[in-house]
Amino acid sequence: MDNCLFCRIVNKEIPSRIVYEDDLVLGFNDIQPQAPVHVLLIPKTHVASMNDVGREHGDLVAHLTSVIPQVAEKMGIKDSGYRVVVNCGKDGGQTVSHLHYHILGGKTLEVTFG
Ligand code: 5GP
Ligand code: ZN
Repeated sequence: MDNCLFCRIVNKEIPSRIVYEDDLVLGFNDIQPQAPVHVLLIPKTHVASMNDVGREHGDLVAHLTSVIPQVAEKMGIKDSGYRVVVNCGKDGGQTVSHLHYHILGGKTLEVTFG
C-alpha cells in the first residue's frame, strides 16, 4: 500500500530501528516507546487490522506470533516477561492501519484494560 506508513517502513522508504527481519515479518522499535522495550512486529504484506485477518492468513499469523519469543529473547525480556497488545479500530486505539503487535516490557507493566 503506497501511502501506508508501515508499508513504507517495510520498503525502507522511512527509516526505523529494526530489531528483527525475515522474508515475512519486520520488528522495529516504536518511535514513542511506552516502556523500556517497545517493539512493533508487523507482517510485510499489508493487512489493515485484526478485522482483516482471515483463515487465509493462518500461516502468516502463526509465523508472526512465533517470532514474538525470538524478539523477546533478543531484547532481553523473555524471562522477565512482557505484554503483547493489538489495537483494533477507533475504540481500540489503532492509529496506524497496518496490523501490528506491540511487544512491551523491560519493567513491571501496570494492569490496565481501558
Ligand atoms: P497503534 O496506536 O496503531 O496501536 O500503534 C501505532 C504505533 O506506531 C504507536 O505506538 C506509534 O508510536 C508508532 N509509530 C507511529 N509512527 C511511527 C514511525 O514513523 N516510526 C515508528 N518506529 N513508530 C511509529
Ligand atoms: Zn501497510
